[in-house]
Formats: sequence, C-alpha cells, structure tokens
Amino acid sequence: EIRVSRLHKSFGDNHVLRGIDLEIGQGEVVCVIGPSGSGKSTLLRCVNLLEGPTEGQVFVGGIELTDPDVDIDAARRRIGMVFQQFNLFPHLTVTENLTLPQRRVLRRGKAEAAKVAARNLERVGLAEKADAYPASLSGGQQQRVAIARALAMGPEVMLFDEPTSALDPELVGDVLAVMRMLADEGMTMMVVTHEMTFAREVADRVVFMDGGVIVEDGTPERVIGAPRHERTRHFLSRLL
Ligand code: ATP
Ligand code: MG
Repeated sequence: EIRVSRLHKSFGDNHVLRGIDLEIGQGEVVCVIGPSGSGKSTLLRCVNLLEGPTEGQVFVGGIELTDPDVDIDAARRRIGMVFQQFNLFPHLTVTENLTLPQRRVLRRGKAEAAKVAARNLERVGLAEKADAYPASLSGGQQQRVAIARALAMGPEVMLFDEPTSALDPELVGDVLAVMRMLADEGMTMMVVTHEMTFAREVADRVVFMDGGVIVEDGTPERVIGAPRHERTRHFLSRLL
C-alpha cells in the first residue's frame, strides 16, 4: 500500500505540490485526474522518489521512502512504473527488454529471468512477440511490453502515468484491458489517466487534483458522477 503525508514539492519558486495526503490500500486502484500542470506526474514521481519531495513523507508497503537512511534502490524495486512513452530499449528484443532489468537489478540468473519474462508476456497477451524488436510492434503492444517489463520485477504496487495518452484510439482498449486484469488480480495501482470509462469501471477511488492539492477524493460515482466542487465540475465538463 501507498501512503503520502503532507507532501510538498517545489521546483525553485514553483510550489507544485502543496500538501498532499493520500492513502491507497492494498489491492486498491486509485485514478488521479486533473488539469495539465496540476501536479499529477510530479506526485507519481514523488511516490517512487524519482523526484525528492521538498517536505512530507512517502510510505510504500510500510517502508518510509523519504527516510534518509532507507535503501532507496531496494525500496524502489517494489514499485513498478509505466509512463506515457514506453521507453523500451530499441536494440533489444522484447524478451531481452524484460530480462535485462531482472538480471541487472535483481541479479536473477538467465534461465529464471527468461522464465519470468515468458510468464509476463503471456499475461499481457504477447507471448508470440518474444523475439520481436520494439520497432516492429504497435504502440499498444509496446506499452503492454512495458507493463510486462515492470511486472517481471515483481512489484508490490504499480504506478501508471497516462499510459494510453500516446496511443492511437484503436490501441487504447488492449492496454486498458491489461490494466483491468491487474486490478482484478488485486494489484495496488495508482493511475493518472483521462480515461473516464476506465476510472468509473475499475477505480475504487478517483482523486481530482488542481493547483497542487487534492480537491476531491471519493468513489468514482461520487467524484465523477456528483462532484462537489466547481473546479471538478468544470474539469469534467471539458472532458465530455
Ligand atoms: P499534465 O496533465 O500536462 O501531464 P501534470 O498534472 O502531470 O500535467 P506536472 O508534470 O506534475 O503536471 O507539472 C506540474 C508543474 O511542475 C508544472 O508547472 C511543471 O512545469 C512543473 N515541473 C514538473 N517537473 C518539473 C521539473 N523537473 N523541473 C521544473 N519544473 C517542473
Ligand atoms: Mg503529467
């Protein structure tokens, strides 16, 4: 599970996150929505300490990542992250993309890494692409490989930053289907997305951010269906 407490983040004089409190329980799926520049990506990046918070605490699985004495590399291994850009290694096959981080970071042997890679490619429906190179895959397939690569590391939680925003509309569904499967399997997930159907159907909670604060946090029916704040209503009305 994830817990963020009184989190602030500034870049110079730009005070981007202004006191974020958020709890995501084990197996919970939380979608984060909000206008451009509201701090969604910064929040996600602070959760795995890709950005160091200016103030506040981040806990993942009961371990405080913001504790200066924590082994941050070890802690970060328990967090999978998927970005809008897939960031696959173009010169490596799909399988090699999945085995390399397992071998380098987790020190797994060749055979075990290959076995874990195969199992996770199967999960995302891409077993037959094991020996293909990323450039020969569609964007949706590349993103599913990126998800499989994160899963192969055995994360306790998965963070997604607009995983379908760079995809052609007809490819979005396959990626969302994989995310839905993960949610059904009980993965703890924090998903920045503008896919309102996904948020309504899959999220346990929806968090609306604006100006570096959480404006609303509740069930999808509540936040999307009956927003209490004008800022939320305005944001949602522009999405439709
Ligand atoms: P979008 O929907 O466009 O992805 P967002 O909600 O993810 O927006 P962030 O990317 O978190 O917003 O950015 C919030 C603010 O933080 C912006 O003003 C941005 O310019 C600033 N910012 C983000 N990353 C950095 C950085 N590395 N250095 C300086 N400023 C940054
Ligand atoms: Mg962003």
